[in-house]
Amino acid sequence: MSQQLVIDAHRFVRESRNLEGSLELLELPRLHDLVTQVAGKVQYRLKGVSGERGQPRLHLEVSGVLPLICQRCLATVEEELEIDSLLELVPEGSEPTQEELEDDSLDFLPVAGALDVRALIEDEILLALPVAPRHEACGLPSDTEAGERPHPFAALAGLKGKLN
Ligand SMILES: [Zn+2]
Repeated sequence: MSQQLVIDAHRFVRESRNLEGSLELLELPRLHDLVTQVAGKVQYRLKGVSGERGQPRLHLEVSGVLPLICQRCLATVEEELEIDSLLELVPEGSEPTQEELEDDSLDFLPVAGALDVRALIEDEILLALPVAPRHEACGLPSDTEAGERPHPFAALAGLKGKLN
């Protein structure tokens, strides 16, 4: 079911192509450790565009909702993805100049020719996610006290008691 999404990046830009679709979370294995369940999907749109001096660029948009793990209560905290990235294609192994590094409006993507779009989307999602996702207020009454943490196995221990 997992389709290969490999494009010739430079040709894609030259021909001003457009690629749209969706990816199941199942197809993005590097995100699996970060979510409470491998369910749902993300939408993406990739466009080949040129910079003001003809620089080859890719415009990538990704949206969707990921069920991330709250670092405080370990329950699901839904993270809404809204990625809008401009990526300039540069030869592999090239070093961007200082001026280019200071330009926050775009990122550099070293690519020789073939580009795995699925892996690119996965990279961009990983970059966009919060380092420590958490609810603004976890749904547990005890959590209003600063520094108080519910024990992650407390619920499990309660369950075990019922089974005995
Ligand atoms: Zn929480």
